[in-house]
Amino acid sequence: MHMRGNETVKTTCSYCGVGCGIIVTKDPQGKVEVKGDPDHEVNKGMLCSKGMNLHYVANDHSDRILYPEMRWSKMHPTQRVSWDDALRRASAVFSSMIKKYGPDSVGFYISGQCLTEEYYIANKLTKGFLATNNIDTNSRLCMSSTVVGYKNTFGEDAVPLSYKDIELADCFLLAGANPAWCHPILFRRIEKHKEKHPEVKIIVVDPRKTDTANFADLHLQLIPGTDIVLYNAIGRRLLERGLIDYEFIKNHTDNYQKYREQILSISLKQAAKICGVSEKDIKKAADIIGLSERYISMWAMGLNQSVIGTDKNVALINLSLITGQVGKPGAGPFSLTGQPNAMGGREVGGMASLLAVHKDLNNPVHRKEVADFWGVNKISSKPGFSATEMFDALEKGTLKAIWIIGTNPLVSMPNSRRVEKALSNAKFVVVQDISHKSDTTKFADLLLPAAAWLEKEGTMTNSERRISYLPKVLQEPGEARADVEILCDFANYMGFRGFNYQSSEEIYREYCQMTKNTNIDISGLSYFRLKNQGSMQWPIPTPTHPGTARLFEDRKFFTPNQKAKFNVPYSVNNASIGTSVQYPLILTTGRIRDQWHTMTKTGKVARLKTHYPYPRIEINPVDAYIHHISHGDICEVKSKNGTIRLKAKVTDAVREGVIFAPMHWGKILQSDLGRANNLTNTIVDPQSKEPDFKFTAVSISRYVKP
Ligand code: SF4
Repeated sequence: MHMRGNETVKTTCSYCGVGCGIIVTKDPQGKVEVKGDPDHEVNKGMLCSKGMNLHYVANDHSDRILYPEMRWSKMHPTQRVSWDDALRRASAVFSSMIKKYGPDSVGFYISGQCLTEEYYIANKLTKGFLATNNIDTNSRLCMSSTVVGYKNTFGEDAVPLSYKDIELADCFLLAGANPAWCHPILFRRIEKHKEKHPEVKIIVVDPRKTDTANFADLHLQLIPGTDIVLYNAIGRRLLERGLIDYEFIKNHTDNYQKYREQILSISLKQAAKICGVSEKDIKKAADIIGLSERYISMWAMGLNQSVIGTDKNVALINLSLITGQVGKPGAGPFSLTGQPNAMGGREVGGMASLLAVHKDLNNPVHRKEVADFWGVNKISSKPGFSATEMFDALEKGTLKAIWIIGTNPLVSMPNSRRVEKALSNAKFVVVQDISHKSDTTKFADLLLPAAAWLEKEGTMTNSERRISYLPKVLQEPGEARADVEILCDFANYMGFRGFNYQSSEEIYREYCQMTKNTNIDISGLSYFRLKNQGSMQWPIPTPTHPGTARLFEDRKFFTPNQKAKFNVPYSVNNASIGTSVQYPLILTTGRIRDQWHTMTKTGKVARLKTHYPYPRIEINPVDAYIHHISHGDICEVKSKNGTIRLKAKVTDAVREGVIFAPMHWGKILQSDLGRANNLTNTIVDPQSKEPDFKFTAVSISRYVKP
């Protein structure tokens, strides 16, 4: 559309997994404005604070990496080089590492902010041609427990429902999530629904009194790590009151007896004690859920980022199975994806443990199918390094070279000091990013300038399986290039066939073909349809198929016998990393309303700093009293991994025994003592390999300057 010299284009927000539609207006000088797209299915014109300030980020190039930089040895600073020199060096180093140490000596660490085409190419390159499964993503830090939870229950990583089910539900259980801050437009839809229908009930499970919890009819402020006991207790109460769907359980599920035995093994009284909530409230939650017609559970990092994250997921999903609340309108388990394209990444197999189109890395037939499609001899059966394993392997020297795209592990990974050591120890680090503000760039032996949002074309999938097309609106600054072009060029420098694509559209066409006859079939989709008909939800198996709002309406799941499976959690709390006399408090980290990840983008926008201008330790008044801390004091928090030093905010928003710190900040005025991940552990969920950011044993004291 052209209006008075301005160009108007529709696209999708590049921050969270809600996936709001945005209208971008570009003036003749190339400056952009943004507003919510009133016709978009997801947000109907609304945008949150982050989304409505996206134009500041798009217009400001002051921090951008503008040309490739390289250093010849660790002793030297990086210097500007040509793209040819940069990619020649990258391919020479990767080739020599592979020759000398084997393909598993190299790896890629990418991002849930990559477009699907980028994810697809990075995976094809790594798993197909570099012959290693060492490709993982920062989505490992947020959604991998959900992936395994869905797979264990439904047979595949499949979100069953749509946002439009929100307006059909009469009961929500929001667990370990603060959508009021982290998925604001989705939360606004829940708020509006309740404003219209006050009888709709909202239960929140969270150790903190968040804005989401303040809106709830019932807040279960549990002790961190006790979620499984709580959901099992709710299951027990549902069973005891006969508020379960026997017919659904009998006809459409497996393993119910084992689940029944487990939920009956702990009394409600015992469960209440373990979880730190009242028995009355457990009963109330169960009664609300059991008496509702259409029940949706939603969850995010509070469940996923845990050493028992997968088990927390299945324990919550079990409540949807026991009540038969899945595969029907207004009902089902609904994970809230953190990043804008974490879902697209999962679809193309963007993790060390996955294969494209939901095929299984452990299955030799699946590996052969993928290898044949890409025209390579084989896909390695050896699982690649997951995110934390990758940095462990760099530290130990088994992984020699790493290529990091669009993510800032120095701030976002657990145990930051270990990440520092790992990157210092690496033989060769490539960082491909848009901004010098990423603290990780200083470790780059090769720094590659990438195109940002609006500067490249591609697709993303949001939390409800909705695929959107993002057009290229702006010219990249300097010598920045689209990630997919950089990767294809690198593949060509490596001498690999099959990377001479003429466009992103050609890559997408190849990927769509790959999905044919799978459960995520989008062979009926194309850029043409996305541009002309707008976003659509997979599966979309034919060119006239309108997309699929809801899965499993026929009650046939993706498991071999088409039944959903009750998974019995192995473990019920976080005892293995519990508190001690030395570290008596539990630290939980999280996000604040106006910042995104490590602030490389939102940190540039002055008006986004006013809400929560600096990181603080939130501590309960009782703990503050015990530890002699007053509001505004600088306090020192220590774990076995490190230290942070921040101002205290004394508040009953956190329960006794728990402190909270936001995860966004890296360095503040040259000090990294505001970086919450100095404290966190690299301990991971054994099934999903997702690290635990919600339970770190710490000590706290008032800091007195020496
Ligand atoms: Fe963007 Fe998420 Fe805000 Fe929507 S809710 S505008 S997708 S950050």
